[in-house]
Amino acid sequence: MCRRKMRYADEMGATAGAMCSLDRRPEVRRLWVYPCPACKGWHLTKYRVAGRRPVTGEKGEQMLDVSVSTIAAFSRDGRVFRAFGHLLAAAAGSVLCVPLALAGGSLRHVTDGCPVPWGEAFAVLDEPSRAPVALPELTLAREFPLLAGIAPAAWASDWIGLGPGAPRPVLRLTHESGIRYAVARG
Ligand SMILES: [Zn+2]
Repeated sequence: MCRRKMRYADEMGATAGAMCSLDRRPEVRRLWVYPCPACKGWHLTKYRVAGRRPVTGEKGEQMLDVSVSTIAAFSRDGRVFRAFGHLLAAAAGSVLCVPLALAGGSLRHVTDGCPVPWGEAFAVLDEPSRAPVALPELTLAREFPLLAGIAPAAWASDWIGLGPGAPRPVLRLTHESGIRYAVARG
């Protein structure tokens, strides 16, 4: 039941309420708004709501809005896949993984499945980071202009192994939003 929750008449009101709440308590960092089937109003929650982007405070992390067409630019054939809560695009020696919560626009042309072997996707997504190095904006802009187009700053890099099928370590770039990009180098 929702009687103890603040009720907003519409999504805009709830979003404004979330922003005020984040101003008061910036440590919460993000809130989700959702329509309530019980009272037909809108409420706030600090728990992730599937398919909705969180509201972030001014001091919170900048929320990105990454369109499927932007992701498709990282794909060898223009196809974008959905797996493990992410949108994935792969080209020769590289894979981009964007959390679904950041995906903007229509997902109609997204294919369910994974464009790389599962083990490789798991490694890119889940391999703990050992000694990540902050990536300077200039380096990012020069070497990964497409990534810089998504987010110009707040990237870190590390090296990971992709398992027995891929003996050489690959460079992984991780953005604070959760976007990951892995690329074989040299
Ligand atoms: Zn309600």
